[in-house]
Amino acid sequence: MKELHQLGLNFEEYRQALEAGAVHRADTIEDLAWDLGLPPATLAATLEVYQACAAEQQEDAFGRRDCRPLQAPFYGVRVTGALFHTQGGLRVDFHGRVLREAGRPVPNLYAGGGVAAGLSGHGPGGYLSGNGLLTALGFGMLAGQHAARALSEL
Ligand SMILES: Cc1cc2nc3c(=O)[nH]c(=O)nc-3n(C[C@H](O)[C@H](O)[C@H](O)COP(=O)(O)OP(=O)(O)OC[C@H]3O[C@@H](n4cnc5c(N)ncnc54)[C@H](O)[C@@H]3O)c2cc1C
Repeated sequence: MKELHQLGLNFEEYRQALEAGAVHRADTIEDLAWDLGLPPATLAATLEVYQACAAEQQEDAFGRRDCRPLQAPFYGVRVTGALFHTQGGLRVDFHGRVLREAGRPVPNLYAGGGVAAGLSGHGPGGYLSGNGLLTALGFGMLAGQHAARALSEL
């Protein structure tokens, strides 16, 4: 959809993907399917479900509720798996110390970033932008300061 394409142009990664020829544009969903090497009937059926989500604000197969109606021209990108991550993780205190179930810290064990539990809402819409790097850097500093203090008190 042109509106979303325009939005994407604000992002360096999207512009790079465009320059690399990774973004396909077509006037019909069938043409887009051929360009991407996808079964046209399946892509058309997927679009139908998505459009119903947009029209009736129903959840689609991926749990999305905030679908926007799509119209030609259609843009598509082949996406491959690259990232494994979790929004859950180990419970830590303010210093990044890993906590046991009862709430007492495990001696000399710190966690932050992707392995520590952070802030996240439920479902696909629950991702908080910036939360990954913030907890990696923030807890890195807090844990480092605490570990240094603990060592100096030995
Ligand atoms: C494409 C992409 C975009 C992102 N955009 C954002 C964003 O806009 N904002 C945001 O906040 N977050 C973003 N994130 C998430 C963010 O990058 C991560 O949450 C953050 O990097 C987690 O930091 P970390 O130090 O916990 O883990 P990592 O950065 O994954 O560091 C872990 C390190 O451990 C190393 N390692 C793994 N196993 C071993 C081993 N056995 N021995 C030694 N070393 C090992 C790895 O090589 C890696 O260097 C993005 C992630 C990706 C992939």
